[in-house]
Amino acid sequence: MNPSDWIESNSSIFTHLSNEVWGYAELGYKEFESAKTLEDALEEAGFKLERGVADIPTAFVASYGNADGPVIGILGEFDALPGLSQDCVPYRKPLADGAPGHGCGHNLLGVAGLAACMAVKQAMDAGEVKGTIKYFGCPAEEGGAGKAFMANAGVFNSVDICLTWHPDTFNGTLYANFLANYRVSFKFHGKTAHAAADPFNGRSALDAVELMNVGVNYLREHMIPDARVHYVITKGGIAPNVVPDEAESLYSVRAPRTDQLDALFARVKNIAKGAALMTGTEVDIVVHSGMSNMLPNETINEVMQSKLIEVGAPKFNDEEHAFARELSKSIPADSLETSAHVYGLDSKAVAALKDIVLFEDILPPFKSEIVLPGSTDVGDVSWVVPTGQIFTACWALGSPGHSWQIVAQGKMGIGQRGMMYAGKVMALSALEFMQNDKIREQAKGEFKQKRSAANYISPIPPGTKPPLNI
Ligand SMILES: [Zn+2]
Repeated sequence: MNPSDWIESNSSIFTHLSNEVWGYAELGYKEFESAKTLEDALEEAGFKLERGVADIPTAFVASYGNADGPVIGILGEFDALPGLSQDCVPYRKPLADGAPGHGCGHNLLGVAGLAACMAVKQAMDAGEVKGTIKYFGCPAEEGGAGKAFMANAGVFNSVDICLTWHPDTFNGTLYANFLANYRVSFKFHGKTAHAAADPFNGRSALDAVELMNVGVNYLREHMIPDARVHYVITKGGIAPNVVPDEAESLYSVRAPRTDQLDALFARVKNIAKGAALMTGTEVDIVVHSGMSNMLPNETINEVMQSKLIEVGAPKFNDEEHAFARELSKSIPADSLETSAHVYGLDSKAVAALKDIVLFEDILPPFKSEIVLPGSTDVGDVSWVVPTGQIFTACWALGSPGHSWQIVAQGKMGIGQRGMMYAGKVMALSALEFMQNDKIREQAKGEFKQKRSAANYISPIPPGTKPPLNI
């Protein structure tokens, strides 16, 4: 049976699994139930499981196949976001106040990859293809950079081609890039004192945090426009009449390429050291995680784009359109334009979408120099293995990223149709790369050439442990 038809005829298995993960809604590195659900389903289907890889309890690899032949990997995620608990209704209604919710659709993301792997296994069992299919259970995409630590531990080393996807409001292949990123704490240590009686005996760690922020804000004028730096103060003292001896900030530093990121981070570190010098304090700089930009692979993109067209974009039913129309009332008017521009759509193309709530078409390839103002740890895989990524329409047009609107659509037909579509496209692409030696070698050749031409610096310093308790 064609893998696409096989996924369709087994759709109830996959919607059930994604609903289960939606219900668990566990935060990064704490996805114990979600990971177990996917692990058990794969093991039951005959995959060989390695649990807790790369010293991360919720990271796993499920493999099926024969020793000879190519190895194709599919990446899955399953972590949720804090504070986004939401019922499956088109208006704001948390299930539990303050609880996490699947505001980035990772319940769908993890299961589409699983569906694709199972469909490839079915083709192997039917004798249609030889090789190995691997499902990579990748935790903590949201700020935890699970894949970056897995990549550093060598988990992806034996793979020929990696495929993945992300839920979206459009269908298409990811030609755009992302920002490389560091997440880092600056911990200042000073000396406490009575703030009125003997402040001259104190050295304020909070002063250092504030001066560092001032310095970084002056740096902004002199950094490349696509770079981003943002921070929060995570510890700032307890009482105004006590000079704080401990204060901390948490920074995110981002730039289009890892060499640019490294250079910018060096300047931010110097500002921190300057702030410590000015205030007579000391600073510890602790890198929690880092993510690389993507090394794009045009060969893989072309294959995935052709499979998107071969399967065809899903059509949504009346009920789903009605849900999306109701939900759209809560979506800011300019949200569609913002998301459409990053995929190369001009104002005319955006205007044509004005009366559409659900996208049922496929975007044409767009300029690959576009850099999306976010980060993904898929980038870290792309520097180890030739990697391709698609996105499919799982949400009403304009749905803001990391929002309750996304949670609401993740456990119903809108999200599920996109998930099934992604599963089918990845299954067909995986088969193509297993069967077609020429296209596989072309993708690997492109990877080697681009990899050796780039000045790549891993954003995770050697020896950095995954921030399992973020
Ligand atoms: Zn996401």
